[in-house]
Amino acid sequence: MANSNGDSSAHARPTVHGLAVSPATQCAHWASPLDIIAVKHACCRKFYACICCHNACEAHEPEVWTRDRRAEKAVLCGACGHVLSVQEYMESGSRCPECREGFNPACKAHWGLYFELEKSLCSMVLTSSGV
Ligand SMILES: [Zn+2]
Ligand SMILES: [Zn+2]
Ligand SMILES: [Zn+2]
Repeated sequence: MANSNGDSSAHARPTVHGLAVSPATQCAHWASPLDIIAVKHACCRKFYACICCHNACEAHEPEVWTRDRRAEKAVLCGACGHVLSVQEYMESGSRCPECREGFNPACKAHWGLYFELEKSLCSMVLTSSGV
């Protein structure tokens, strides 16, 4: 359990990394009023505003949360700071269970970039790394 900053406060909001990240976790790539979630990546366990931000800041390949790790608290609501588990987020109906703020339903098309999915959903995944 490596925890570099040793912060034990449950209310401390995780730091969200990325390019031009706003307090609501919008970024240079996704900046609509609905783009208010940040996702922790399985590879480096850092919250990034989006996977493009991850790839711009990290030298390694992004890793997805496998299906057996959906209990992991990996999705941050930028509106209220609540951290959802992968499972909670997938079942949230694109809104925060805590503050009821709407999430971008289009994010669903990118789930496969962050989470391991059943095959039917995987086919929707775009290659958005821009390379
Ligand atoms: Zn990473
Ligand atoms: Zn981004
Ligand atoms: Zn919220």
